[in-house]
Amino acid sequence: MTILVTGCAGFIGSHLTEKLLNEGHRVLGIDNFQTGAMKNMLSFIDNENFVFVKQDIEEPIKVGDALDQIYHLACPAAPVHYQKNPIKTLSTAFIGTKNLLDLAMRKNATILYTSTSEIYGDPLEHPQNEKYWGNVNPIGERSCYDEGKRAAEALSFAYHRQENVAIRVVRIFNTYGPRMAKNDGRVVPNFVLQSLANEPITIYGTGDQTRSFCYVDDMVSGLITMINNDAKFTGPVNLGNPAEITMRSLAETIIRLTNSKSELTCKPLPSDDPHRRKPDISLAQEKLTWQPSIDLEAGLQKTIEYFKSK
Ligand code: UDP
Repeated sequence: MTILVTGCAGFIGSHLTEKLLNEGHRVLGIDNFQTGAMKNMLSFIDNENFVFVKQDIEEPIKVGDALDQIYHLACPAAPVHYQKNPIKTLSTAFIGTKNLLDLAMRKNATILYTSTSEIYGDPLEHPQNEKYWGNVNPIGERSCYDEGKRAAEALSFAYHRQENVAIRVVRIFNTYGPRMAKNDGRVVPNFVLQSLANEPITIYGTGDQTRSFCYVDDMVSGLITMINNDAKFTGPVNLGNPAEITMRSLAETIIRLTNSKSELTCKPLPSDDPHRRKPDISLAQEKLTWQPSIDLEAGLQKTIEYFKSK
């Protein structure tokens, strides 16, 4: 197949692109390097089946060839990045996604939109299933991302209902692994880098807030299974690992795995930081027969090795 991946130089996008190339597909990759990096593509940039275009998805996207599938991942996803230029985050989510949906319509391609667990906001239901509509602060500091992603979900369904575009919508929960950017402020790279340097581990708030972490290889297999589902199941579907952990125990686990001398230090909790997050993945299990297989310690070991080698 010929497949377009937006955000191919990003963390998840680069792993996905590599996997699709290994499966023998022709991949056209787009990235503007806002948060992605060339170094993430070094293992496949010379692959003869890969064509890279440096482009912002807010510009009209011109593709000469026929396209079978589009994976649309391009968007800054870490709070420090998406809050740096909130106007751009909203326009990337809406205008960028509209450009991709128009392209899917022109090419008669199936498009998978990567939405996020952030659309549930600070959830009042736990765990979160796809029927829950969420608890988002519409004007808070995270709203540029959360509401942008919600609007892009709405836009995807509008193109599906009005123009019959074949859409797949996935809600990605916290994902980690090699190629996460060390400056993106996310908890896993922060804690791993601090532990490796025997520096204080920065716990925001009390550290009792929870997240549920999915290893990147599991996420990539979920995305591929979702776009290829025969039942034309549009989603939205949660993809993530339901094993829930507090940030304090995550810190303790990483200290143990790295044999670190680091101690915990508390910092203020960022505004609108969700208290609890855990995906209900029964829909993915039922419709896609997908579930994650890599447990947290195994995934963290691989991630620690990656950061050590850097
Ligand atoms: N966090 C933390 N210390 C850090 C970075 C993050 O305690 O150095 C917390 C953060 O407040 C949040 C959780 O870890 O409760 C996950 O944060 P991240 O930015 O990785 O992802 P998101 O908030 O988007 O789920």
